[in-house]
Amino acid sequence: MSEKIYIFGHKNPDTDSICSSLVMEKFDKNLGLDVEARRLGNVNEETQYVLDYLGIAAPELLEKVEEGQKVVLVDHNEFNQSAEGIEEAEIQMVIDHHRIADFKTKSPLYYRAEPVGCTSTILYKKFKEDGMNIERQEAVLMLSAIISDTLLLKSPTTTEEDKKALLELAEIAKIDVNTYGIEMLKAGTNLDKFSEEELINLDAKKSEKNGKKFVIAQVNTVNIPDVLKRKEKLEQVIEQEIQKNNISLFVFAITDILNSNTQIIVLGQETVAAEKGFGKKLEDNMMFLEGVVSRKKQLLPVIDENL
Ligand code: MG
Ligand code: MG
Ligand code: MG
Repeated sequence: MSEKIYIFGHKNPDTDSICSSLVMEKFDKNLGLDVEARRLGNVNEETQYVLDYLGIAAPELLEKVEEGQKVVLVDHNEFNQSAEGIEEAEIQMVIDHHRIADFKTKSPLYYRAEPVGCTSTILYKKFKEDGMNIERQEAVLMLSAIISDTLLLKSPTTTEEDKKALLELAEIAKIDVNTYGIEMLKAGTNLDKFSEEELINLDAKKSEKNGKKFVIAQVNTVNIPDVLKRKEKLEQVIEQEIQKNNISLFVFAITDILNSNTQIIVLGQETVAAEKGFGKKLEDNMMFLEGVVSRKKQLLPVIDENL
């Protein structure tokens, strides 16, 4: 067990999980704490764009946590999205903007949850509250996370606080948010190098409702038809995943980040939950959802309610 406190976001880390871990590391180091940002999986292309822009390395991979390991969770709280062994770790702090579920600790902790669009928006507020100076690197990390989670403030998860944070961070970073943001988001839409197996796991979140396991996986694109060229193979690997892990419903969401729409491919025994929830019939296992971009606000609650 390391004496250091590890800070990490969820499995299949997104830009918020990586950037917020790094920013939290900086925050805690400023306070003199012995902390280290870690990651629970590969860095995606969008996040890599941010790290390359800053010329910094990704946090190191954390395979599992040992019993009693001190940890700080950012951008998640559900144990099934966290590190192997999290049940036996000592969770000291959680900074998150998701629903609270599948979460339990042995000891008291600092827990901060706010219904904002991004964990980094909360971190931005923490810096302000503590009167701590935000340096350019942290400003870029936080604004990148906000752009990613809110799709450049277009997602319905966006709040006034995210807008305010992004504006001020852009000022500190001296970045034109729209130009930078589009380039960053586009970097994450390069899906060609991934196999179908990788695509369905790239940004997949697993949940359970009434004993039924379901998965909502999401990829971003600027061209939905381009991704659908791989539909047959995608369906094959989704079916395998369903068999292997006894999944009742698998939703693969292909989100057009420029036009803010999502095409979903839905497979499993409980596809009726999606049909009921969205009030549409699946055609060829697919459904087009206009104006839908947010898994958290527009997909997960609908599936969860109807399963
Ligand atoms: Mg996240
Ligand atoms: Mg987030
Ligand atoms: Mg996300």
